[in-house]
Amino acid sequence: MKQAVLETPGKISFRDIPMPGELKPAEILLRIKKIGVCGSDIHVFHGKHPFVTKYPVIQGHEYSGEVVAVGDAVTVVKPGMKATARPQVVCGQCPPCLRGQYNVCQNLTVQGFVANGSAQEYFVVTEDRIVAVPDNVTYEQAALIEPAAVGAHSTIRAGDLSGKNVVVAGAGTIGNLIAQFAIIRGAKKVLLTTAKSDFRLDIAQQCGIKEIANLSKESFPDAVKRVFGDEGFQVGIEAAGAQGAVTDLIAGVENGGTVIIVGVFEENPVVNMGFLGEHELNVLGSMMYKQDDYEEAVKFIAEEKLITAPLITSRFPFSQYLEAYHFIEAQGDKSLKVMIDVAGN
Ligand SMILES: [Zn+2]
Ligand SMILES: [Zn+2]
Repeated sequence: MKQAVLETPGKISFRDIPMPGELKPAEILLRIKKIGVCGSDIHVFHGKHPFVTKYPVIQGHEYSGEVVAVGDAVTVVKPGMKATARPQVVCGQCPPCLRGQYNVCQNLTVQGFVANGSAQEYFVVTEDRIVAVPDNVTYEQAALIEPAAVGAHSTIRAGDLSGKNVVVAGAGTIGNLIAQFAIIRGAKKVLLTTAKSDFRLDIAQQCGIKEIANLSKESFPDAVKRVFGDEGFQVGIEAAGAQGAVTDLIAGVENGGTVIIVGVFEENPVVNMGFLGEHELNVLGSMMYKQDDYEEAVKFIAEEKLITAPLITSRFPFSQYLEAYHFIEAQGDKSLKVMIDVAGN
């Protein structure tokens, strides 16, 4: 079978590798259908991801596939079903794992970054990480469950959102899906901001996110005033990985409010500790997701409460992985989710 290998930063080649061998009792063989490319893949492609230092890397952490075979002990999926799986490989023995917080396992490796990912025709996953996908969800939608689960987890981290005003900074795929989750969870109003172009805000509106602001045209305080009036906002979620967004959210959130950090920062941002203390803010991290978050993402996609179709802006065949990356770079913020089509629909 074919496998795409990121040999060194900037260089992708294809090689033929043997099919996976006999399955262990809890293993599942997937025929990979779609792989979504995300911002962190591009960081790895450039050798600029903070946690990826060793090459070659087999990428692919947002994916969907068809179950083709299952080990003797597997009960949650059967051959012929659609599925996706979490890319987190955890130890099960460190203190966070033992208390169920395995998303921050102290020995975590993520497939597609340090552990081998799914950029190949067939891929073996274990039952603890698999999530069955209903037939009415397409393989492309199923490849968006991974970023959607980030939205599920970060909005749970923010606490009860009902009746609260929420600002989500960053209009990429993750920011968009966080904003949609905040709406699902009963937030009063949700404002999605970007410091870049209107392209991603137009897509946000197609996804049902009504309140948007382009901070290259309007100041953050003006946007907050326009959307929330005197109510301000009680929760901010940072999904841009940008200094400006951190500064705005921490300075702008209501006293006693909560700011969740989701973005990945190439440079360590400066945080105004004065606001943190004086305003008694809760600033919390959010790391990927857990199994429940995946299952919730599947449910809301299947019920069409999460709108995913407008997020997919381009498609490339598996053989054009490198072209897809070059396209993403050339498009800048005029592109959102690019899908790699490994095996048709
Ligand atoms: Zn990703
Ligand atoms: Zn662990």
